[in-house]
Amino acid sequence: MGDHDYRGRFAPSPTGPLHFGSLVAAMASYADARHHGGGWLVRIDDVDLPRARARAADAILASLERYGFEWDDRPWRQSTRTDAYEAALAKLVGNGDAYACTCTRRQLASLPSAIGERIYPGTCRDRAIGDDASRAAMRVRVPSAPIGFTDRVFGFQQQRLDLDVGDFVVRRSDRLFAYQLAVVVDDDAQGITDVVRGADLLTSTPRQIFLQHALGLTTPRYLHVPVAVDANGAKLSKQTAAAALPPEALPALLSAWSFLGQMRPPASLASAREFWPWAIANWQTQRIPRVSTQMASSPIV
Ligand code: GLU
Ligand code: ZN
Repeated sequence: MGDHDYRGRFAPSPTGPLHFGSLVAAMASYADARHHGGGWLVRIDDVDLPRARARAADAILASLERYGFEWDDRPWRQSTRTDAYEAALAKLVGNGDAYACTCTRRQLASLPSAIGERIYPGTCRDRAIGDDASRAAMRVRVPSAPIGFTDRVFGFQQQRLDLDVGDFVVRRSDRLFAYQLAVVVDDDAQGITDVVRGADLLTSTPRQIFLQHALGLTTPRYLHVPVAVDANGAKLSKQTAAAALPPEALPALLSAWSFLGQMRPPASLASAREFWPWAIANWQTQRIPRVSTQMASSPIV
């Protein structure tokens, strides 16, 4: 009965404790994976966090465990994967898809933006700066053809990378690799077939698909779920003082389940242990609200 062609993952950034917003993403990826009889991994997305986030990562893993999540294999930490990212960058450079950029932060700050990031106009495209230049960022050349994909909740999406972001950074000038590159390298290395995550990443997906094509990697299926926002419309995060999840798991699990539009559970569920088998059996993607943000209306926030 199990779907051996399904492997999902949850990739939290260890910027603080697990909070309601990240619980929603974790729940969606876990319920979808297990509902399909698939595997599920946790990967610590600490690629652009200069070290020392080990404690936040450990706290997230401890919360997930307390909340009844069971992952396969040992969690990977992106901070240990630099060699793989270097190899991917070398391939992009070798194929003429990546180039060095020495634009200063100040030069970039005056550029217009479309989806939140500055649209890079390709200033350094043909300047042939060596990729070993110190203080150089590495960017990939994006095509003008639209990149489309079909999200399992949002349906067909497409984006012109040249108009929305321009040639984007894959390694920053401080030599840390960008999330966009790390995520595709690791999703491929871990054999991820299904990416389930917050809808704030819908507009990152075309960049990731473009990199998969450029690197010869397989494109997984994508499913994005609404992002929990507070009454002011701000994404729940450590910055907006989203509270760490309470020790007692069931109430928060039920709130996240209802946030995801799922059917009302029987009142008899008494613990996280009872919740999960029921939730996995009753997970229905067609009930997920097709909105990119949604207010989290619970005392947990
Ligand atoms: N670390 C990212 C986040 O917490 C998620 C990355 C992903 O799922 O691709 O928003
Ligand atoms: Zn430049």
